[in-house]
Amino acid sequence: MTSENQTDLPSRRSALPKSPGRVAYGYRTTPDGKRIPAPGEAEVVRELITRVAARESLVGVVREFEARGLVGRSGKPISRVSAAAIVRNETYAGHRPEIAPALVDEETFGAAQKELDSKKRHGEGGDSGAKYLLTGIARCGECGRTLQHTTIASAGVVKDHYRCFVRGDHTIARSQAWLDNMVIDELMRMLPDAKPGQLLYDLARDPRPREVWARLPLSRRRAIILESLTVEILRVGRGKSGSAEGIRLTRRVAT
Ligand SMILES: [Zn+2]
Repeated sequence: MTSENQTDLPSRRSALPKSPGRVAYGYRTTPDGKRIPAPGEAEVVRELITRVAARESLVGVVREFEARGLVGRSGKPISRVSAAAIVRNETYAGHRPEIAPALVDEETFGAAQKELDSKKRHGEGGDSGAKYLLTGIARCGECGRTLQHTTIASAGVVKDHYRCFVRGDHTIARSQAWLDNMVIDELMRMLPDAKPGQLLYDLARDPRPREVWARLPLSRRRAIILESLTVEILRVGRGKSGSAEGIRLTRRVAT
């Protein structure tokens, strides 16, 4: 697993995708290559994140944008999935200053994350745009921020990872499939202790919980993890990013 060691990222950073043509919504590029807020887009990003932070439903904001005739770069109304991705993008909170400046402050951004998380917990599907099991759920053990998805190229192979994008320079990442499996294994170990009323209980009652798990919608699987476990990834020595010692799984439910 040494090829997956992502704790020494300065050298890997250059391997991250950096297509110059793909500037995130809300920004434009100056002639000298800097990203600055894009008039007309930055305001939309700010308004969206701020209104979600203020506990308006994502769907409600998206519908209202459409009613106002607001469109994204494709020329179509901004979809709920796109809107969720915008609210979840840490770049807008200034977590990737080397790439782009903040459009909202940390407090607003954090409140918006909480709002989407709570919608998920209550089954309102507020974050149906999440594509990965642990984005916005697993946290960095160094700074406490939630991890986001990224791809990292290693030895010519591009793989999905969860990564902390933080101000400054600590870089912590793990292979997405590897971390997902570790978390699922822990959930399966928790099944004998699941109690009625817990989301895990339905899985526990089935003789083939892994098959049931695999058939659940992603939003449900994410809700089960949110209720059952906290997932943190820690800084470990070189060559150990594939070892369990760098992962802290804490059971949230009484067992
Ligand atoms: Zn961090």
